[in-house]
Amino acid sequence: MPSPTVENYLKALFQLAVPERGVSTRELAGRLLVKDASVTHMLKRLSGTGMVSYEPYRGATLTPEGRQAATAVLRRHRILELFLHRMCRLSLDKVHAEAERLEHAASEDFVDALDRLMDFPTLDPHGDPIPDREGRLRGIDSRPLTDIPPGARVVLVRVEDARPEALTYLVSEGLVPGRKVTVARRLDFDGSVELQLGRRRLMLARELAEGIHVTPDEGSAE
Ligand SMILES: [Zn+2]
Repeated sequence: MPSPTVENYLKALFQLAVPERGVSTRELAGRLLVKDASVTHMLKRLSGTGMVSYEPYRGATLTPEGRQAATAVLRRHRILELFLHRMCRLSLDKVHAEAERLEHAASEDFVDALDRLMDFPTLDPHGDPIPDREGRLRGIDSRPLTDIPPGARVVLVRVEDARPEALTYLVSEGLVPGRKVTVARRLDFDGSVELQLGRRRLMLARELAEGIHVTPDEGSAE
C-alpha cells in the first residue's frame, strides 16, 4: 500500500482535477498545506511510480493506475465516515478527521466488510458518492446554494467536509443532508444566501453557501 503521504497526494489530485489541464503545484500546496517546493519534489517522485504524469508548468494529472489508487482511498474514507456516523453515532462534524487517519490503516477487506455490513451504501454522511470497488462514482446532479433563486424549496444533498469549524456550525443549525429549506433571499453583491428554516431565518456567507449542494424538493407543496 502507498504511504499516507502518497495517498493524500493522489486523493488531492483526484479531487482537484479539472478537465483539460493539470493540477498546479500551487493548488496542491494549498490543499495539502505544504510548501510548493515539497509538492514539486513529490510530483517528480510520483511520476516515477507511473501513478502521476507531471510536466513542470503544465501541472499534474493522475494516470489510470493513479486514479484507481485515489478512488480506493476515497472509498475507504467515505465508507469509514459512514460507519463512524451511522454505526458509532459520531456526529457529522467529527467523522472526517477520524476517517482521515483511519483511511491509511484500514485494509480493503475490512472496508469491504463494513460496506456489506451497511448494505452497500452509495453516499457518505456528507452526501458525497462512495466509489465502488472498480473506482466508479455515481454522479449527483446537485447545485450549490449560491445558484438557487429566492423562493425555491430545496433538499440539502451534500455538505462539504473540508472545514471542520464550518461543518460544526452547519450541524448545529441542523443543515445536514436530507434537510429541506427554502431560499428566502440571495444578496447578489456579496453572494450570501438567507434561508427560511421553519419560522426562523438564517443568513449564510457565500463561503458557507457554496459548500452546500442541493436538489429541488419535488415532494413538497410549500
Ligand atoms: Zn471526509
